[in-house]
Amino acid sequence: MSAHPTSTPPLPAWLDVPSDPNDLVDGVWPTDAARDADGDLIIGGVTASALAREYGTPLYVVDEDEVRSHARRAREAFESAAARHGVAARVYYAGKAFLSTEVVRWVTDAGLAVDVASGGELAVALAAGADPGRIGLHGNNKSIAELERAVASGVGSIVVDSFQEIERLAAIVAAAGTVQDVLLRVNSGVHAETHDFLATAHEDQKFGFTLADAVRAAALVRNAEGLRLVGLHCHIGSQIFGTAGFAESAARIVSLYADLLAPSDADAAQDMRVLNLGGGFGIAYTRADRPTAIETLADGIVDAVAAECAERGVRMPDLAFEPGRAIVGQAGVTLYTVGTTKAVALEGGLERLYVSVDGGMSDNARPALYGANYSARLAARVSDAPPQLVRVVGKHCESGDIVVDAEYLPADVEPGDLLAVPATGAYCFSLASNYNFLPRPAVVAVRDGRARVIVRGETLDDLLARDAGIPPTERTA
Ligand SMILES: *Cc1c(COP(=O)(O)O)cnc(C)c1O
Repeated sequence: MSAHPTSTPPLPAWLDVPSDPNDLVDGVWPTDAARDADGDLIIGGVTASALAREYGTPLYVVDEDEVRSHARRAREAFESAAARHGVAARVYYAGKAFLSTEVVRWVTDAGLAVDVASGGELAVALAAGADPGRIGLHGNNKSIAELERAVASGVGSIVVDSFQEIERLAAIVAAAGTVQDVLLRVNSGVHAETHDFLATAHEDQKFGFTLADAVRAAALVRNAEGLRLVGLHCHIGSQIFGTAGFAESAARIVSLYADLLAPSDADAAQDMRVLNLGGGFGIAYTRADRPTAIETLADGIVDAVAAECAERGVRMPDLAFEPGRAIVGQAGVTLYTVGTTKAVALEGGLERLYVSVDGGMSDNARPALYGANYSARLAARVSDAPPQLVRVVGKHCESGDIVVDAEYLPADVEPGDLLAVPATGAYCFSLASNYNFLPRPAVVAVRDGRARVIVRGETLDDLLARDAGIPPTERTA
């Protein structure tokens, strides 16, 4: 036995050798992604090589119609599922997945409300012209300034997360002489991820009131003049493929909801009318992922709530949902340029080609942060070369700086090739950093054959701008 056992197999069990390492897997790429006669990748009617020429790499490309259509589809799915039970559903876009004023306009055009989780996210949503009454504010530790700004802006709902926050918010609302709608963030104890859910042992986390504490929190809100308890909120995880976790969580939340509907103060009970079941609907990152259609998820979750309400004999509340990843994930493609390659022999006669690109964990932190999987394709050409096992890595000073852990690309992939990584629309731009002082890439929206910058890329001046040790006269032009 080796003193240093290798823990991970050289390649994941789910990874098959593709029959064509140039193919664009359905559901992973934007729906309109295709290749032109030269093999150039086209997104939103614009070729990858034209985008790279015009804007450079790395580059975040967002397919505008893809975002708009996912937003519309999600809203219709939840609205029609709720309508079958005679209630309303509101769909919030979870802005933390990818927030810019343009994206806010696309999703609000599609009829979505917007969720924000900080004063900064709130500022972007307001700058985009979002209706404050259709903004929800989250966070387990909102500052007093953030709460004041939200109240002053007329934010539609604040999801409160702690006893201290209830007191702070009550004081702010009293001082402002307004009334604020409030939901209680409840930790149902259910935590779900992809195929599985855990129904216990997840009360030990920072978000929300436990089911037991929620009763006391509700009383505190109801006793605060200016705060109106309009509902309960619960978010059970992310990248979830099935409805079982949602159904289990809904059962617990509906039970709490039923208890809170029958307080001594019957007037206060009248206000309780919404259950917000959060987001977390999964998408396909690689060909191995088979996410459930949003319509199927919507029907399954809403039916589960209806069944619980019927069982407990309570009127069904209106519902709210907060998809983030499911709205923007599939719309994003990141373009990189290959800089170097290196072949490494693995056990069992395998060879892995390391393909280094001009970005990495600073523009996509998810592989390093969560061990997330992605896929990749040559973007400016196709090739008849046989499939070669590759690992796409970035240019940062970390061996964990991986963009795509395991993928097959044509064996002739070489420096200068343009590489595209799909399904990067969610939690890439929003989690970007300046690690190693790399400037964060621009975001370009593509639609109908046209491209436009919606967030400009950073410059070296941007990177130096905050360093107080540089006299203004010595800054680069
Ligand atoms: C992150 C988050 C979401 C969105 O999650 P997705 O996985 O992107 O759908 C929704 N609601 C809350 C409270 C969140 O924290």
